[in-house]
Amino acid sequence: MTDVTLQSIYAARRAIHGVACRTPLVPAYALAGGDGLDLRLKLETAQPTGAFKLRGAANAAARLAPDALRRGVVCASTGNHGRAVAFAARRLGGRAVVCMSRLVPENKLAAIRALGAETRIVGDSQDEAQVEVARLVTEEGLSEIPPFDHPDVIAGQGTIGLELLEDLPELDTVVVPLSGGGLIAGIARAVKSAAPAVRVIGVSMTRGAAMQASLAAGRPVDVREEPTLADSLGGGIGLDNRWTFRMVRELVDEVVLLSEAEIAAAMRRLFLEEGWVAEGGGAVGVALLQEPHRALLGRRVAMIVSGRGIDMELFRRVVDGEVPFEKGVADG
Ligand SMILES: *Cc1c(COP(=O)(O)O)cnc(C)c1O
Repeated sequence: MTDVTLQSIYAARRAIHGVACRTPLVPAYALAGGDGLDLRLKLETAQPTGAFKLRGAANAAARLAPDALRRGVVCASTGNHGRAVAFAARRLGGRAVVCMSRLVPENKLAAIRALGAETRIVGDSQDEAQVEVARLVTEEGLSEIPPFDHPDVIAGQGTIGLELLEDLPELDTVVVPLSGGGLIAGIARAVKSAAPAVRVIGVSMTRGAAMQASLAAGRPVDVREEPTLADSLGGGIGLDNRWTFRMVRELVDEVVLLSEAEIAAAMRRLFLEEGWVAEGGGAVGVALLQEPHRALLGRRVAMIVSGRGIDMELFRRVVDGEVPFEKGVADG
């Protein structure tokens, strides 16, 4: 596999055209607050699947040989990545299989099926679903599309960086939600290839920040998973991580960790002051406008609003002022 370069990101842009959208970069005057901050929001919530992961999945699927795409792509996510894989495969004329445990709620199962993917229900855990993915790859010749640790996925997410540079060339800071690191690695590679002085800041939750723990340890490590409002930022980076850990270590300037109350407040402000709906993991950037984080931002700032995959009842509770996972378990 080749490295992720500005060239591979431009190639990804051509490959995903017609599957993923170019998203708007909108000004956020109310959030910026009038003291000279030029704040823009990159609305990946406007993707047809509601999150940026469509870019990476579409690029990975588009780069497969036609017969491999017909045999099928496979993943073990029922969240934003699963929807992206299902949507991209169908758009490109291929087959998608999404493996999941039988604990997955019926509405998520239905959403994946509605996008045209086949579903395989196996076992009681994400780990067992992942074993089925491996079996389908070795025994039936399907191609796995991983959620972040793959150069084609990273290059696909990097197309956001190209759009940022075109829409706001004088940009000095990019704020990016961070989990496995595919999103921030791709954006940082694109932006810093053209504008090395731009600062790239990752944002995760205090609860289970696997990339930050790995950076601190100097190697990929596991962290305990806990319930969080930023559920799309949960999960490990893989102890056998090949791409994103190295790229994040090289390219990311700062990582900020947020409390559950800060994440809830960010979602609330984004909705009440700008009118945009985002899930917890999608809204985290907005928390950097509050102290003590504010000093990290420059004057021309782009924040990635990465997704809107949230149950609307939970969203309503957050807008009403609740902090649902503050005590460590869902209380409703
Ligand atoms: C997956 C995801 C992220 C994190 O992306 P990584 O590439 O894993 O760092 C952030 N926001 C949303 C909405 C996501 O679905």
